[in-house]
Amino acid sequence: MRSWSISAGRIFGVELRIHWTFFLLPFFVWYTEFASHRTNEQRGLALVGIIFASVLAHELGHALVARRFGIRAKSIVLLPIGGVTQLDDSLPAPDPVVVDPSLKLKTTQLVPWKRDIRIALAGPLTSLLIALVSSGIILIAAPHVDLRTWPFMQSGNLPRSLVWVNLYLAGFNLLPAYPMDGGKVLRALFAARMDPVQATRRAVSIGQAFATMFILAGMLLPNYWLTLVGLFLFIASQMEERSVVFQSVLERVRLEDIMLTDFATLSPADTLEDALDKAVHSLQDDFPVIRGSDMVGVISRQKILEALRVEGNGYVQAVMNRIFEVAQKGESLASAFRKLTARNLSIIPVVEDQRLVGIVTLQNLMHSMALLAESRKLRKQALNS
Ligand SMILES: [Zn+2]
Repeated sequence: MRSWSISAGRIFGVELRIHWTFFLLPFFVWYTEFASHRTNEQRGLALVGIIFASVLAHELGHALVARRFGIRAKSIVLLPIGGVTQLDDSLPAPDPVVVDPSLKLKTTQLVPWKRDIRIALAGPLTSLLIALVSSGIILIAAPHVDLRTWPFMQSGNLPRSLVWVNLYLAGFNLLPAYPMDGGKVLRALFAARMDPVQATRRAVSIGQAFATMFILAGMLLPNYWLTLVGLFLFIASQMEERSVVFQSVLERVRLEDIMLTDFATLSPADTLEDALDKAVHSLQDDFPVIRGSDMVGVISRQKILEALRVEGNGYVQAVMNRIFEVAQKGESLASAFRKLTARNLSIIPVVEDQRLVGIVTLQNLMHSMALLAESRKLRKQALNS
């Protein structure tokens, strides 16, 4: 997606990008108006400016509400029908220290799908608000401007266009067609009942059905705006689908396919110096701590070093992390990834019938993914030749 858009600076600390399709808009406005009445280039450009500012305000609505929930927007890509705000939910919420305590409460209280609904609705609400306020101002300051005459969006009447651009943005974005905001609400509702990837996939296919319908209806009527909107919807849904495909790969790979089966363990009764000695002879950064056949904790090489430096020699037992998550060997990579990131862990022990059969660490996760892709490619080549 980055290659299809150009950077246009930063706003509120968020990178602003303009999708190439936005540059088609002036030509499109000129073309549609040329067909119906005389054109005025300056007013045409002003109309494009109004659309641009309205889309930007809409997207900032999303980004600012997301920020209230501790999610930072990475970038906003502006398309003429709205924008795509890329939220950075891979990162955990910002450090509790810098976050206002009341905000933190909110972050932890709202379940993800309810939070997603609020973020999704923030955009259309912003657009509606702008439409309401601007029509109120027009009614008071310029009562001669008729807000209800067709065509609603036209360079000949910029105040009326401002109201209608925002009404269209709100209405169109509320369509239950992912990745439009209505579709995001739909996805959040699906996600409340099923696996998030499945929920996204379902929402994306509904979105593409809408896009196809728009393109066909626009060509049959004919209504160029409708066709254009359908095309944009298709582009936007494809942007989303790409990330869904990546997710589904993560969803298909089982932990037993990538886990480390040859690994070192420590005992709680080991001294830190012994532990360091083992760590030196191993490539691992993280170690499961085993007593008998039970897993009792995890410890990292860094933690061992730190403890040795600060407190001198002691026992692994005193320093190890007792809070950890366990995964079943049949679990998906995506599920392990969620567990790792949710709790900021760097290792997950993999068990089968409560027996430790492997470990998955952040460090090995990336390596294994690459190796796995390579071995599949080789196998495919072998099959084809
Ligand atoms: Zn939106």
